[in-house]
Amino acid sequence: MRYRGSIWIAKFILVAALSFAVTGAAHAQNPPPGPIKISVDATHAPQRILHAKLEIPTRSGPLTLYYPKWMPADHSPDGPIPNLAGLNFSSGGKEIPWHQDLVDMYAFNLDIPEGVTTLDVSLDFLISAPGPTIDFSASGTAKLFVLMWNQVVLYPKGWPAHDLTFDPALTLPQGWKFNTSLPIASQSGNGVVFSPVPLDLLIDSPVQSGEFTRVYRLNPGVQPSHEVDVASDDAWALDISPDLLDRYARLVSEAGALYQSHHYRDYHFLLTLSDNILPLGQEHHESSDDRVSENTLVDPNGRIREAGLFPHEFTHSWNGQYRRPEGLATPDFQQPMKGELLWVYEGLTEYLGTVLTARSGLRTPQQSRDYIALTASTMEHRAGRRWRSLQNTANAAQILYFSPPEWSSYRRSVDFYPEAVLIWLDVDSTIRKLTNDHRSMDDFCHAFYAPPDGQPEIKTYTFDDLVATLNQVAPYDWRSFLRERLDSTAATAPLGGITGGGWKLVYTDDPNEYLAAGEAQSGGADFTASIGLRVRGDGFVVDSIPGMPAFENGVSPFLKIIGVNGRKFSVDELRRAIRDSKSGSDGIEITAMNTGTLEKHEIKYQGGIRYPHLERVAGTSDYLGEILKSLTPATVH
Ligand SMILES: [Zn+2]
Repeated sequence: MRYRGSIWIAKFILVAALSFAVTGAAHAQNPPPGPIKISVDATHAPQRILHAKLEIPTRSGPLTLYYPKWMPADHSPDGPIPNLAGLNFSSGGKEIPWHQDLVDMYAFNLDIPEGVTTLDVSLDFLISAPGPTIDFSASGTAKLFVLMWNQVVLYPKGWPAHDLTFDPALTLPQGWKFNTSLPIASQSGNGVVFSPVPLDLLIDSPVQSGEFTRVYRLNPGVQPSHEVDVASDDAWALDISPDLLDRYARLVSEAGALYQSHHYRDYHFLLTLSDNILPLGQEHHESSDDRVSENTLVDPNGRIREAGLFPHEFTHSWNGQYRRPEGLATPDFQQPMKGELLWVYEGLTEYLGTVLTARSGLRTPQQSRDYIALTASTMEHRAGRRWRSLQNTANAAQILYFSPPEWSSYRRSVDFYPEAVLIWLDVDSTIRKLTNDHRSMDDFCHAFYAPPDGQPEIKTYTFDDLVATLNQVAPYDWRSFLRERLDSTAATAPLGGITGGGWKLVYTDDPNEYLAAGEAQSGGADFTASIGLRVRGDGFVVDSIPGMPAFENGVSPFLKIIGVNGRKFSVDELRRAIRDSKSGSDGIEITAMNTGTLEKHEIKYQGGIRYPHLERVAGTSDYLGEILKSLTPATVH
């Protein structure tokens, strides 16, 4: 899943021959039931409802069916069960009663009568519209739809997900086309039958569909194949410029050079351009579900802000899918996950994604440095770092993913994404320094994500395995190195990777390109490094940082600023007031609405505008520059 600032945009095996099973999964005594048929009727998706039918081989006696609860890419118990409706169980046309478990809301208990060998299940799934919180059910519009199989599946208790085989079929609205990594068995009209697939790979393989779709093949002729599958609410948005396509193709080449392996048969970037579904970046073994605003590819600010999406989700095929922390590799979708290594699963992905974004040309070197500077500044201004370690943000991920953006500095958010970028940069520049620039995180990648190539598989690891691989690359006390940074409750962020990389974090009044693009897109403003305030375009205070001028002078989250120095509030007015504070003014007078009461606050501040940047330190090795440099020669695609 992908993290964007403090807001989650929202944020899962194939014929039995393929091995996707998690080692150590507890196998039940009984052989698994035969293939379970699932037919999804999506012809009413534009009307915001899906109909599904399942045929589950069974026998008489007590039966528990599960609705998937813990979603692998969400690291949370957030299966969208509130949107399950119309549940009905029967056999031979005779209805069978059911009871939802009183403790586990994701379990349905039945007593199967004597003589019944097949249970017929029908259910509906209600498609929502995007709202203020993460809602994975917001995945369909009048013109397109992304099927996430977990939303329409029930499966019997007692077997690892990999041991349960499904025969999936899907019917789409007339004239709609579809794309997925699932192998197709047959197709006729608007119906498609997929090849038999283990439950874990089924849930790992979304199907993108719509009236307007287009397929772009990257690096044609090269195996395995990679393609960008685009769907949008309107035909105009389907065009990808040759220049951007070239960068996507370079991403594939650069990832090949960095990882030197692939653990998929082919790869699909399922890119959905729509303002009417949940914005999202969700990783899978053989595809990624990437959803952004309709105009993203033609809006320069949108391109800068979303440049890291493909590199992050693509990296997950290696880091997160192929290599997965033990605590996150559960045998089914009901057993709780443990997030303690999310600073690797997500944090290292964010670092390697940042590196690949630069190496593929999706971001310029300046934009990459501005991105790292903004990340460092944001983590430097986390008031919560004195009480909550970075390790705790990972341990508590299932809480923090769903916490609101207000108070994110003091509460802390899923900081194991951005702050881990700083820590892994520190690891990378330390390896380079230790080995006189002969080795780097690239060598770690070669070792950690090594072949065998070719098909989805999960290889688990522990903290000890990670330390051992780092020691293979460059012997050092990596255990202490990492623990010091992860368990710290110091007020300052780990900036050693920036200085070790030959740069330093500075603040100037020059715009930070990545931050400015975000402000232009949202209409809000980020004054974190000056008065410690983030506001929306309408004056709503998203965050105010304890210890910083705005908060210490009475401005808190949830206030709505309506006036600045006697003038009506606008982001520009507030920016001007902060800039002018340098020229000896008394301070900044804020008029704000606090739960129906008007308040005035005098922010005592004379520091001017402060935007984060990286500045080169003369006479030091520019390891950061080398890290961001392409590994493959520029080629014409
Ligand atoms: Zn992710």
